[in-house]
Amino acid sequence: MPDLNLDLLDNALDSLNEALSRYQDGRDGNDKSYKFCIQHLSHFFELILKYYVTRSHPLLIYKNPFAKHLNDESHTIGLFEAVNFLKNEGHEITERFEKDLSWLKKLRNGIEHHKFSMDTNEVEETIGRLMSAIVEFDESHESVDISCHIQSEQYDLFHELANTYEGRLKKAEELVEERLTGCDPKDGNCAVYHCYECDHDTMAPNPNSDTGYRCTFCSNEESDDIEMDCGICGQSWPLWQMKQMDLDDTGHSEYYCPYCLHDPEYRNDD
Ligand SMILES: [Zn+2]
Ligand SMILES: [Zn+2]
Repeated sequence: MPDLNLDLLDNALDSLNEALSRYQDGRDGNDKSYKFCIQHLSHFFELILKYYVTRSHPLLIYKNPFAKHLNDESHTIGLFEAVNFLKNEGHEITERFEKDLSWLKKLRNGIEHHKFSMDTNEVEETIGRLMSAIVEFDESHESVDISCHIQSEQYDLFHELANTYEGRLKKAEELVEERLTGCDPKDGNCAVYHCYECDHDTMAPNPNSDTGYRCTFCSNEESDDIEMDCGICGQSWPLWQMKQMDLDDTGHSEYYCPYCLHDPEYRNDD
């Protein structure tokens, strides 16, 4: 019986890897691949949820574990019976997750009966939600640590879809690169600073930010490391060294460097 258990998990993870690989194909322009992705993914969800059920008892895979004889022919539970069991057992399965599972199952059935239409945006969005829901469930349940079983070719895609910490960070780092492309230091802010809020090097130039910078990971806009031009000499200094003052009482304050403010630590001529 424990063998059956492991087979379930192995098959589930194989299907997931296959689904991810098809997903990548679909995204690369081969629309048809989404069809296969849906089939593999739906297989994955059915098997992984059944696997979670069997963690409570291996015989629970069967519709009737009390039957006189159990063999290969015996009926096993379906996807929603697994969902119900896990809920009855006290695990949280959100309404959204259940709805997405129904969506997946319906689409899969449509594909098998050759009558379906697919909105690829909806497919990408729903698959993302399903992936993050299962990862969350896995982490709060008896974790099999799904990410450990993802093939290296599909690793980035998995983290992106499941919106894991790794996935979000990678996206933030890509955004930093985008922000720097075509950025000319002569036109102003062109640096990347460390964000002390989230502790990543992801404070990138952003024209919509008051400080000229915004963290692409956590949206923080403040850092004392950001360099500003001094209102008198025009040299760049990090904010922590400058003072914001309204020198001429114009009701408009500017940043001034310690040198121009005659800070004795920076000049000893007075
Ligand atoms: Zn941040
Ligand atoms: Zn100055």
